[in-house]
Amino acid sequence: MAPEEVPTFVVDVMLGRLARWLRVLGFDTWYFREMDDRELVALHRTTGRVLLTRDTRLVLCRGVGRHVLITSDCWEDQLRQVAAALSLDIRRERMLTRCLLCNRPLERLAREDVYGKVPDYVAGAAAAFHGCGSCGKIYWAGTHRKRMEEVVSELCSYGKGGKKAPVA
Ligand SMILES: [Zn+2]
Repeated sequence: MAPEEVPTFVVDVMLGRLARWLRVLGFDTWYFREMDDRELVALHRTTGRVLLTRDTRLVLCRGVGRHVLITSDCWEDQLRQVAAALSLDIRRERMLTRCLLCNRPLERLAREDVYGKVPDYVAGAAAAFHGCGSCGKIYWAGTHRKRMEEVVSELCSYGKGGKKAPVA
């Protein structure tokens, strides 16, 4: 992998939480609940997105390229495995730059744009707001963010330049 290349993903239906966390980290991640294996592999082949799956049979399909065969049931271990396997470059500034529901890059919103759309105490107090132009969801720095930052800090040690997680 070239040093500046940021991987993009297509994730199988069993790995919803992993997909969500990759979006938290700002990675372009396709995840569709209604998708069969054939469609998944076809998407992977035509787009070159890294295939993430738990299904051994799937990675044996003809034409499967770069993939990670996920070994754990636990989303935290899954995320560590992906970070280590691909030497992911995990950066704080990329965190929460994408909608967790639809993967679309978020846009910065002005405070006056969010009044009436988020709780009043949030509209008055949060430092910054970002919105999804597709589903309309609004994101701001709050309690969820703290938990995400803890996960990101820990993960950094498994990604690019960090120690290697045991990869089965
Ligand atoms: Zn959205």
